[in-house]
Amino acid sequence: KAKGAGRKRFHIYEAAYKYDHVENFIHELALSQAIEKEELYVQYQLIYHPVKQAVIGAEALLRWHCGSRGIVQPNSFIPVAEETGLIVDIGYWVIRQACKDWHLLKEVYGAEFKLSVNISRVQLNEVDFVVQLLNIMEEEEVAPQSIELEITESTTVHSMQEVQQTLHQLRAYGFTIALDDFGTGYSSLSMLTLLPIDKLKIDRSFIADGNAPLIAAMLAMANALKLQVIAEGIETYEQYVMLKEMACWGIQGYYINKPTDLHLLPKQVELGAE
Ligand code: C2E
Ligand code: MG
Ligand code: MG
Ligand code: MG
Repeated sequence: KAKGAGRKRFHIYEAAYKYDHVENFIHELALSQAIEKEELYVQYQLIYHPVKQAVIGAEALLRWHCGSRGIVQPNSFIPVAEETGLIVDIGYWVIRQACKDWHLLKEVYGAEFKLSVNISRVQLNEVDFVVQLLNIMEEEEVAPQSIELEITESTTVHSMQEVQQTLHQLRAYGFTIALDDFGTGYSSLSMLTLLPIDKLKIDRSFIADGNAPLIAAMLAMANALKLQVIAEGIETYEQYVMLKEMACWGIQGYYINKPTDLHLLPKQVELGAE
Protein backbone atom coordinates (compact mmCIF):
# COMPACT_ATOMS: atom_id res chain seq x y z
CA LYS A 1 0.00 0.00 0.00
CA ALA A 2 2.75 2.36 0.99
CA LYS A 3 4.54 1.53 -2.25
CA GLY A 4 1.48 2.36 -4.35
CA ALA A 5 1.04 5.70 -2.68
CA GLY A 6 4.69 6.42 -3.31
CA ARG A 7 4.35 5.67 -6.99
CA LYS A 8 1.31 7.90 -7.26
CA ARG A 9 3.19 10.76 -5.70
CA PHE A 10 6.00 10.15 -8.11
CA HIS A 11 3.62 10.43 -11.09
CA ILE A 12 2.15 13.65 -9.80
CA TYR A 13 5.60 15.03 -9.27
CA GLU A 14 6.71 13.95 -12.72
CA ALA A 15 3.68 15.57 -14.36
CA ALA A 16 4.24 18.81 -12.50
CA TYR A 17 7.89 18.73 -13.48
CA LYS A 18 7.09 18.27 -17.18
CA TYR A 19 4.43 20.95 -17.07
CA ASP A 20 6.95 23.28 -15.55
CA HIS A 21 9.32 22.63 -18.42
CA VAL A 22 6.70 23.27 -21.08
CA GLU A 23 5.67 26.42 -19.26
CA ASN A 24 9.27 27.61 -19.07
CA PHE A 25 9.83 26.75 -22.69
CA ILE A 26 6.88 28.84 -23.83
CA HIS A 27 8.04 31.67 -21.61
CA GLU A 28 11.56 31.51 -23.04
CA LEU A 29 10.33 31.39 -26.60
CA ALA A 30 8.14 34.45 -26.05
CA LEU A 31 10.96 36.29 -24.30
CA SER A 32 13.44 35.49 -27.07
CA GLN A 33 11.14 37.30 -29.50
CA ALA A 34 10.34 40.21 -27.21
CA ILE A 35 12.97 42.56 -28.64
CA GLU A 36 12.02 42.12 -32.30
CA LYS A 37 8.31 42.22 -31.50
CA GLU A 38 8.98 45.49 -29.67
CA GLU A 39 7.34 44.24 -26.49
CA LEU A 40 10.00 45.61 -24.16
CA TYR A 41 9.90 49.10 -22.76
CA VAL A 42 11.54 51.07 -19.99
CA GLN A 43 9.99 53.11 -17.22
CA TYR A 44 11.87 55.62 -15.11
CA GLN A 45 11.88 56.29 -11.40
CA LEU A 46 13.38 59.58 -10.30
CA ILE A 47 16.22 59.87 -7.80
CA TYR A 48 15.84 62.98 -5.67
CA HIS A 49 18.33 64.93 -3.56
CA PRO A 50 16.30 65.81 -0.45
CA VAL A 51 18.69 68.51 0.80
CA LYS A 52 19.12 70.30 -2.54
CA GLN A 53 15.48 69.48 -3.34
CA ALA A 54 16.37 68.56 -6.88
CA VAL A 55 16.05 65.61 -9.22
CA ILE A 56 19.54 64.25 -9.72
CA GLY A 57 18.91 61.09 -11.67
CA ALA A 58 16.57 58.27 -12.55
CA GLU A 59 16.63 54.49 -12.65
CA ALA A 60 15.64 52.64 -15.81
CA LEU A 61 13.28 49.76 -14.99
CA LEU A 62 12.52 47.21 -17.66
CA ARG A 63 8.95 46.15 -18.51
CA TRP A 64 7.71 43.41 -20.82
CA HIS A 65 4.36 43.73 -22.50
CA CYS A 66 3.93 40.10 -23.57
CA GLY A 67 1.39 39.46 -26.33
CA SER A 68 -0.26 36.55 -24.54
CA ARG A 69 0.27 37.41 -20.85
CA GLY A 70 -0.04 41.15 -20.63
CA ILE A 71 2.49 43.06 -18.59
CA VAL A 72 5.04 40.76 -16.99
CA GLN A 73 7.05 42.04 -14.00
CA PRO A 74 10.85 41.97 -14.10
CA ASN A 75 11.03 39.81 -10.98
CA SER A 76 9.37 37.00 -12.94
CA PHE A 77 11.09 37.32 -16.33
CA ILE A 78 14.60 38.52 -15.44
CA PRO A 79 15.52 35.23 -13.72
CA VAL A 80 14.38 33.37 -16.89
CA ALA A 81 16.38 35.80 -19.03
CA GLU A 82 19.44 35.18 -16.85
CA GLU A 83 19.15 31.38 -16.93
CA THR A 84 18.81 31.33 -20.71
CA GLY A 85 21.38 34.03 -21.43
CA LEU A 86 18.72 36.18 -23.11
CA ILE A 87 19.57 38.89 -20.57
CA VAL A 88 22.70 39.72 -22.55
CA ASP A 89 20.84 41.04 -25.60
CA ILE A 90 17.98 42.36 -23.51
CA GLY A 91 20.51 44.20 -21.34
CA TYR A 92 22.15 45.84 -24.36
CA TRP A 93 18.69 46.83 -25.57
CA VAL A 94 17.97 48.51 -22.19
CA ILE A 95 21.27 50.40 -22.25
CA ARG A 96 20.64 51.67 -25.77
CA GLN A 97 17.11 52.76 -24.88
CA ALA A 98 18.33 54.49 -21.72
CA CYS A 99 20.97 56.35 -23.76
CA LYS A 100 18.38 57.51 -26.29
CA ASP A 101 16.15 58.72 -23.46
CA TRP A 102 19.02 60.42 -21.62
CA HIS A 103 19.16 63.11 -24.32
CA LEU A 104 15.58 64.09 -23.50
CA LEU A 105 15.97 63.73 -19.74
CA LYS A 106 18.99 66.02 -19.55
CA GLU A 107 16.96 68.75 -21.28
CA VAL A 108 14.45 68.57 -18.43
CA TYR A 109 16.65 67.87 -15.40
CA GLY A 110 20.03 69.31 -16.40
CA ALA A 111 23.31 67.94 -17.70
CA GLU A 112 24.39 66.63 -14.26
CA PHE A 113 21.52 64.16 -14.41
CA LYS A 114 22.64 60.52 -14.17
CA LEU A 115 20.75 57.58 -15.56
CA SER A 116 21.02 54.31 -13.61
CA VAL A 117 20.80 50.96 -15.37
CA ASN A 118 20.60 47.58 -13.65
CA ILE A 119 23.28 45.15 -14.79
CA SER A 120 22.97 41.42 -14.19
CA ARG A 121 25.84 39.16 -13.16
CA VAL A 122 25.38 37.32 -16.47
CA GLN A 123 26.00 40.52 -18.43
CA LEU A 124 29.04 41.40 -16.36
CA ASN A 125 30.55 37.98 -17.07
CA GLU A 126 30.46 38.49 -20.84
CA VAL A 127 34.09 38.83 -21.96
CA ASP A 128 33.33 41.73 -24.29
CA PHE A 129 30.82 43.49 -22.04
CA VAL A 130 32.92 46.64 -21.60
CA VAL A 131 33.62 46.96 -25.33
CA GLN A 132 29.98 46.41 -26.32
CA LEU A 133 28.80 48.87 -23.70
CA LEU A 134 31.23 51.55 -24.90
CA ASN A 135 30.19 50.94 -28.53
CA ILE A 136 26.54 51.51 -27.74
CA MET A 137 27.31 54.65 -25.76
CA GLU A 138 29.44 56.03 -28.55
CA GLU A 139 26.73 55.33 -31.13
CA GLU A 140 24.14 56.99 -28.93
CA GLU A 141 26.48 59.85 -28.03
CA VAL A 142 26.26 59.52 -24.27
CA ALA A 143 29.31 59.84 -22.02
CA PRO A 144 29.99 57.15 -19.36
CA GLN A 145 29.93 59.98 -16.78
CA SER A 146 26.17 60.20 -17.34
CA ILE A 147 25.50 56.53 -16.64
CA GLU A 148 25.43 54.66 -13.35
CA LEU A 149 25.59 50.87 -13.35
CA GLU A 150 23.69 49.09 -10.57
CA ILE A 151 24.92 45.69 -9.53
CA THR A 152 23.60 43.50 -6.73
CA GLU A 153 25.61 41.87 -4.01
CA SER A 154 24.76 38.38 -5.24
CA THR A 155 26.36 39.38 -8.55
CA THR A 156 29.69 39.37 -6.90
CA VAL A 157 29.72 36.19 -4.84
CA HIS A 158 30.99 34.02 -7.70
CA SER A 159 34.01 34.92 -9.78
CA MET A 160 34.91 37.76 -7.46
CA GLN A 161 38.20 38.56 -9.19
CA GLU A 162 36.73 38.86 -12.67
CA VAL A 163 33.98 41.10 -11.35
CA GLN A 164 36.51 43.28 -9.54
CA GLN A 165 38.53 43.65 -12.72
CA THR A 166 35.54 44.51 -14.89
CA LEU A 167 34.31 47.09 -12.40
CA HIS A 168 37.75 48.69 -12.22
CA GLN A 169 37.76 49.00 -16.01
CA LEU A 170 34.26 50.47 -16.11
CA ARG A 171 35.18 53.03 -13.49
CA ALA A 172 38.33 53.97 -15.35
CA TYR A 173 36.12 54.80 -18.34
CA GLY A 174 34.04 57.08 -16.13
CA PHE A 175 31.00 55.00 -15.21
CA THR A 176 29.66 55.20 -11.67
CA ILE A 177 29.04 51.90 -9.89
CA ALA A 178 26.25 51.46 -7.34
CA LEU A 179 25.74 48.44 -5.12
CA ASP A 180 21.98 47.74 -5.30
CA ASP A 181 19.75 46.25 -2.59
CA PHE A 182 22.49 46.80 -0.02
CA GLY A 183 22.08 44.78 3.14
CA THR A 184 20.13 41.88 1.61
CA GLY A 185 22.99 39.87 0.06
CA TYR A 186 25.25 37.22 1.50
CA SER A 187 28.34 39.22 1.86
CA SER A 188 27.45 42.74 2.89
CA LEU A 189 30.32 44.36 4.69
CA SER A 190 33.42 42.81 3.18
CA MET A 191 32.12 43.71 -0.30
CA LEU A 192 32.37 47.38 0.53
CA THR A 193 36.13 47.33 0.76
CA LEU A 194 36.73 44.66 -1.91
CA LEU A 195 34.69 46.19 -4.70
CA PRO A 196 35.37 49.44 -6.52
CA ILE A 197 32.01 51.13 -5.93
CA ASP A 198 30.83 54.71 -5.61
CA LYS A 199 27.38 54.31 -4.14
CA LEU A 200 25.21 52.17 -1.94
CA LYS A 201 21.51 51.72 -2.45
CA ILE A 202 19.96 50.79 0.88
CA ASP A 203 17.36 48.11 0.26
CA ARG A 204 13.80 49.22 0.73
CA SER A 205 13.15 46.57 3.40
CA PHE A 206 15.23 48.64 5.86
CA ILE A 207 13.16 51.74 5.10
CA ALA A 208 9.93 49.79 5.47
CA ASP A 209 11.08 48.43 8.85
CA GLY A 210 11.60 52.03 9.98
CA ASN A 211 14.71 51.12 11.99
CA ALA A 212 16.17 54.64 12.26
CA PRO A 213 19.29 53.71 14.28
CA LEU A 214 20.20 51.01 11.76
CA ILE A 215 19.71 53.37 8.80
CA ALA A 216 21.75 56.07 10.55
CA ALA A 217 24.52 53.53 11.17
CA MET A 218 24.53 52.52 7.49
CA LEU A 219 24.80 56.18 6.49
CA ALA A 220 27.65 56.79 8.92
CA MET A 221 29.50 53.75 7.63
CA ALA A 222 29.01 54.78 4.00
CA ASN A 223 30.20 58.26 4.87
CA ALA A 224 33.37 56.91 6.48
CA LEU A 225 34.02 54.86 3.34
CA LYS A 226 33.32 57.90 1.13
CA LEU A 227 30.34 56.25 -0.53
CA GLN A 228 27.21 58.13 -1.47
CA VAL A 229 23.90 56.60 -0.40
CA ILE A 230 20.56 56.28 -2.10
CA ALA A 231 17.67 55.07 0.05
CA GLU A 232 15.17 52.92 -1.87
CA GLY A 233 11.46 52.53 -1.22
CA ILE A 234 10.56 55.91 0.28
CA GLU A 235 6.78 55.69 0.43
CA THR A 236 5.70 58.20 3.08
CA TYR A 237 6.24 61.79 4.16
CA GLU A 238 7.66 60.54 7.47
CA GLN A 239 10.28 58.42 5.72
CA TYR A 240 11.17 61.35 3.47
CA VAL A 241 11.66 63.67 6.45
CA MET A 242 13.75 61.08 8.29
CA LEU A 243 16.14 60.56 5.36
CA LYS A 244 16.32 64.29 4.69
CA GLU A 245 17.26 64.97 8.33
CA MET A 246 19.90 62.28 8.12
CA ALA A 247 21.26 64.14 5.05
CA CYS A 248 20.95 61.03 2.88
CA TRP A 249 22.41 61.86 -0.52
CA GLY A 250 19.56 60.51 -2.66
CA ILE A 251 16.12 59.02 -2.18
CA GLN A 252 13.89 57.02 -4.45
CA GLY A 253 10.42 55.59 -3.99
CA TYR A 254 6.70 55.81 -4.63
CA TYR A 255 6.55 58.97 -2.49
CA ILE A 256 8.58 60.79 -5.15
CA ASN A 257 7.19 58.93 -8.15
CA LYS A 258 6.22 55.47 -9.27
CA PRO A 259 8.13 54.09 -12.25
CA THR A 260 6.72 56.14 -15.14
CA ASP A 261 6.85 56.26 -18.93
CA LEU A 262 9.40 58.81 -20.14
CA HIS A 263 6.90 61.34 -21.43
CA LEU A 264 4.81 61.28 -18.25
CA LEU A 265 7.63 62.10 -15.82
CA PRO A 266 6.99 65.22 -13.70
CA LYS A 267 9.23 68.15 -14.68
CA GLN A 268 9.33 69.32 -11.10
CA VAL A 269 8.88 67.50 -7.83
CA GLU A 270 7.17 69.26 -4.91
CA LEU A 271 7.26 67.24 -1.72
CA GLY A 272 5.24 68.08 1.34
CA ALA A 273 2.98 66.56 3.99
CA GLU A 274 0.03 64.74 2.44
P1 C2E B 1 15.75 47.21 -8.16
O1 C2E B 1 16.86 47.51 -9.09
O2 C2E B 1 16.07 47.16 -6.70
O3 C2E B 1 14.63 48.29 -8.47
C1 C2E B 1 13.76 48.83 -7.52
C2 C2E B 1 12.44 48.10 -7.48
O4 C2E B 1 11.68 48.59 -6.40
C3 C2E B 1 11.60 48.33 -8.73
O5 C2E B 1 10.82 47.16 -8.96
C4 C2E B 1 10.70 49.49 -8.29
O6 C2E B 1 9.51 49.59 -9.03
C5 C2E B 1 10.44 49.10 -6.86
N1 C2E B 1 10.11 50.28 -6.04
C6 C2E B 1 10.57 51.53 -6.17
N2 C2E B 1 10.07 52.36 -5.22
C7 C2E B 1 9.28 51.59 -4.44
C8 C2E B 1 8.47 51.87 -3.27
O7 C2E B 1 8.40 52.99 -2.77
N3 C2E B 1 7.80 50.81 -2.74
C9 C2E B 1 7.86 49.56 -3.28
N4 C2E B 1 7.16 48.60 -2.69
N5 C2E B 1 8.59 49.26 -4.39
C10 C2E B 1 9.31 50.27 -4.95
P2 C2E B 1 10.65 46.54 -10.42
O8 C2E B 1 10.57 47.62 -11.43
O9 C2E B 1 9.56 45.53 -10.33
O10 C2E B 1 12.04 45.80 -10.63
C11 C2E B 1 12.41 44.71 -9.82
C12 C2E B 1 13.85 44.34 -10.04
O11 C2E B 1 14.07 43.83 -11.37
C13 C2E B 1 14.83 45.51 -9.92
O12 C2E B 1 15.08 45.78 -8.55
C14 C2E B 1 16.03 44.97 -10.64
O13 C2E B 1 16.79 44.12 -9.80
C15 C2E B 1 15.39 44.13 -11.73
N6 C2E B 1 15.41 44.89 -13.00
C16 C2E B 1 14.57 45.85 -13.46
N7 C2E B 1 14.96 46.31 -14.67
C17 C2E B 1 16.08 45.62 -15.00
C18 C2E B 1 16.99 45.63 -16.14
O14 C2E B 1 16.84 46.40 -17.10
N8 C2E B 1 18.03 44.75 -16.10
C19 C2E B 1 18.25 43.90 -15.03
N9 C2E B 1 19.28 43.07 -15.09
N10 C2E B 1 17.43 43.87 -13.96
C20 C2E B 1 16.37 44.72 -13.93
MG1 MG C 1 18.27 48.86 -9.21
MG1 MG D 1 17.22 47.88 -5.36
MG1 MG E 1 15.75 44.56 -6.27
